[in-house]
Amino acid sequence: AAKDAGRGVHRFYADAMHNQASERKAIEDSLRDALANDELQLLYQPIVDVKSERISGFEALIRWRRKSAEIVSPSKFIPIAEESNLIIPIGEWIIRTACATIARLGPDYRVAVNVSPRQFANEKLPVTILNAVAAAGIEPGQLELEITEGVFLDESPANLEMFQKLKRTGVRLALDDFGTGYSALGYLKKAPFDKIKIDQSFVLGAADRNSMNAAIISSIVGLADALGMETTAEGVETHDDLALIRGLGCSHVQGYIYGKPMDIDEVEALLAERGGLVIARGFKSAREP
Ligand code: C2E
Ligand code: MG
Ligand code: MG
Ligand code: MG
Repeated sequence: AAKDAGRGVHRFYADAMHNQASERKAIEDSLRDALANDELQLLYQPIVDVKSERISGFEALIRWRRKSAEIVSPSKFIPIAEESNLIIPIGEWIIRTACATIARLGPDYRVAVNVSPRQFANEKLPVTILNAVAAAGIEPGQLELEITEGVFLDESPANLEMFQKLKRTGVRLALDDFGTGYSALGYLKKAPFDKIKIDQSFVLGAADRNSMNAAIISSIVGLADALGMETTAEGVETHDDLALIRGLGCSHVQGYIYGKPMDIDEVEALLAERGGLVIARGFKSAREP
């Protein structure tokens, strides 16, 4: 009987794994058509210069609106796009769309796009970028690439060379989600980053009493300053956190306190209404009672 039960458990896991695999396959199949069917969209979240309190640019964040009206979050479909290599055409679309948006917003603003590990490993990336920048007629320095620490898993010469090639295109480079991954600190001096983005896990609630996060943020800012890099604190929601982040010397802030990711029409309305000036809205954090 024990043997039968064991077989049952085994069967259960096999089925569960099969279901997971077929769900992935189903997502992959419909993602393949998402571009052609116009189901992908970029939203833009303001990034604010701490000193001037002006919007310096936006981060482009992808959304997938399925015909069923369901919105799939990037954390769900980007990994599938990565594994299936669909990230290459989708990534090209992201870069071209972001460049078109930069052209629309004019010379005063930058747009940052997220670049995933497979995109980074694709030797055509620099050419893709140069073509998109030229087609949109923008300055390459208006485009910023956000690269996550995951890329550093492989400290190969090819990676370092890609950083140099990207740098030579004239785009800006930002190290995303800093502090969450494998943080090869040596890479910071080898790779030509313009900016470090401090992960929101250090920022959310940083002003709470007994939080060690303020000390961590402060040392990241010190490191970035010494290396001549800017810092963006991600995920700032409350006035308390904003005040702390300012005090710690971060150069830029991004978070619900200044605005959620919005579509291009909302971006244009916001900029038309106040120029690049922003108002900290005192977003009521979901973390608060
Ligand atoms: P990320 O690059 O670290 O982006 C920041 C995430 O934090 C976004 O989630 C953003 O909506 C969210 N966020 C911003 N401000 C706040 C805040 O004040 N509070 C809280 N709780 N959250 C905030 P989103 O849009 O769901 O994106 C999740 C991740 O998916 C991104 O993390 C990025 O790694 C990836 N991703 C998004 N768009 C793209 C893309 O176009 N290409 C690639 N390769 N990855 C993308
Ligand atoms: Mg990012
Ligand atoms: Mg980030
Ligand atoms: Mg993050």
